[in-house]
Amino acid sequence: MRPVPTPMSYYRERLEGLAGAGLLRGLRPVDSPQGPRVRVDGREVLCFCSNNYLGLANHPQIVGAVQRAVAEWGWGSGASRLVSGSMTPHHRLEARLAAFKRAEAALLTPSGFQANLAAICTAVGPDDVVLLDKLNHASIIDAARASGARVRVFRHCDYDDLRKTLGQTTEHGRRLIVTDSLFSMDGDLADLKTLVAIKQHYDAILCIDEAHATGVFGSSGRGVAEAAGVEEHIDITVGTLSKALGGMGGFVCGSRDFVDCVINTARSFMYTTALPAAACAAAEAALDLIDAEPERRRRLLAMTADLRAQWRQNGFDVAGSASQIVPLVVGDAQRTVDLAEALLDRGILAPAIRPPTVPRGAARLRISVCADHTPEDVALLVDAVKASFPAA
Ligand SMILES: *Cc1c(COP(=O)(O)O)cnc(C)c1O
Repeated sequence: MRPVPTPMSYYRERLEGLAGAGLLRGLRPVDSPQGPRVRVDGREVLCFCSNNYLGLANHPQIVGAVQRAVAEWGWGSGASRLVSGSMTPHHRLEARLAAFKRAEAALLTPSGFQANLAAICTAVGPDDVVLLDKLNHASIIDAARASGARVRVFRHCDYDDLRKTLGQTTEHGRRLIVTDSLFSMDGDLADLKTLVAIKQHYDAILCIDEAHATGVFGSSGRGVAEAAGVEEHIDITVGTLSKALGGMGGFVCGSRDFVDCVINTARSFMYTTALPAAACAAAEAALDLIDAEPERRRRLLAMTADLRAQWRQNGFDVAGSASQIVPLVVGDAQRTVDLAEALLDRGILAPAIRPPTVPRGAARLRISVCADHTPEDVALLVDAVKASFPAA
């Protein structure tokens, strides 16, 4: 007999629908610190899916800095930054981040997701329009919706389409262009030089999200804006401390006035508890390492350039990858899940990335390399993929 449906039955049916489409997700516990190798299901596997690009998540200098900071400042921050939660380590790190990003001011948020909410909801409101690249991160899309501005989407990195859209929106108030600088699922880069020329021509505001590029791109690791030589023309930069910097937290950089507006108006900044001071100490130690050890980012980018070349030779679709993120586009969601399982059997952790994270029919493995992987690790990955890749 079928159970009588209740309002809560909806959730079971929804999960069954996802499972039927090969789209059910689950959580797999990792039983070790993060690193080039992790323990999963009781055995050690090579981790080719983390954003711990520089291997800093468990770096002894950072762990030591956190331990000293906890001894000095305790753990919790107790309240919002606007109440009693604004501690000296927050202010010190903000000064350091502003200098690092060549901006007048920087402001910390508890995560990069909240940094996008804070930046975009401050930059525009209901009388304005926000223009988004089709492949921007979910936190940018949610922030644009939450801002109340009219949302227009341009085709991925298609700046003629952006110009056309800008030409159609002249009646609006402020116009904000937002783009990832390094796209998280395709591993390709926005053309910031062209975007700067467009924002100047149309008198728009340009906001870039350097979540995946901070610490990796640019000769000093400051990001794609540094690499492109356009830092002084970027109005607003969003970043995270949780990827290459190996910790937790997000930040917004911009003019002093803009950052003061974020402090005064952004709900995702005002109504949330400040980061622990120890997270600030971790980020400072990470910035020290980014400064002192440029070979980490050079090694990482050299290894991934090599990996991309090998996969192109083997006829794999690596999308537009030009970074430490190298997708392996399979297409069908279930076949991608099967490939990920086959790789795990061979000691490689790289879960399937499926819709809605990527468009339908573009399911993939999103391979990301860590500076602490060795060329031998990468060779194991290539062999495992070649042996497991489903025939078309
Ligand atoms: C991960 C990510 C974020 C969110 O950063 P968290 O610190 O993880 O919340 C924002 N933007 C982009 C492009 C990201 O990839």
